[in-house]
Amino acid sequence: MTPDAARRFDLHMHTNRSDGRYDPEEVLARCAATGLDVIALTDHDLVAPVSPGVHTVDGRDIFVIGAAEISGHHDGHEFHLLVYFPGEIPEEFRTFCTRQMQARADRYAGAIEQLDLEGLEGPDEAAKAGERSLTRLHLAQAMVEAGHATHLRDAFNTFRDTQAVPSIAFSFTDAIRMAVTHGGITSWAHPPMQHARTYLKTFVDAGLQGLEAHRPRVSGKDRKTFKKMAKRYNLVLTGGSDWHGWNGHQLGLFHVNRVDLEPFLELLSAA
Ligand SMILES: [Zn+2]
Ligand SMILES: [Zn+2]
Repeated sequence: MTPDAARRFDLHMHTNRSDGRYDPEEVLARCAATGLDVIALTDHDLVAPVSPGVHTVDGRDIFVIGAAEISGHHDGHEFHLLVYFPGEIPEEFRTFCTRQMQARADRYAGAIEQLDLEGLEGPDEAAKAGERSLTRLHLAQAMVEAGHATHLRDAFNTFRDTQAVPSIAFSFTDAIRMAVTHGGITSWAHPPMQHARTYLKTFVDAGLQGLEAHRPRVSGKDRKTFKKMAKRYNLVLTGGSDWHGWNGHQLGLFHVNRVDLEPFLELLSAA
């Protein structure tokens, strides 16, 4: 598994295969430049085209853990699930992602129609083939470009008001079961505290193994609560920046230390 000397971890970031700004190669180059040792590219419903294992980038070794971030629905809320694999990502999981991306492409086309967005092009071939994951951000950006909204925020508000862009209709608990069945280690991405209190037991019963507690904007108090929850339900903690590359946010300013990920790394190497 990950090299023992690895110290700086970031297990949550995005590329332009979903709603990140930079292509996977550029993201790796930035990881190298900023001195990260172990990373995971966690695109939405997509396995990034970077093989798991060691990559030497600009003379620096970076260990990549195969991963993805899956969207699911529970009780009227959309939640995200991080899935990490001990080695290669199994074909069945990739097939699942491809289907989800095709559903996203359909949803994108449906939203253009429902909102009557003249001048917007439908999903491209890569999106229809499930090689690229279309998100609300893509639609919002296209709306601004075509003059249907002045700012991204206006575009997002349009979706919210009209419900024209429904959440991915896949159950979160089914996502957990599916990921575990295919050998993935699951962690609830950026869990909202209130929802964690309400739903955590249900998700643990479905097979959830982790909570993403190490994040840039989590208060010390909430982190403590997540730690308590993890202890109670025998969960591991994971962490990452959820970096997308927009708004000038710099990769590497946030990282997680090995000591905080030890139980997760043990679970991953035992899987
Ligand atoms: Zn997310
Ligand atoms: Zn994310």
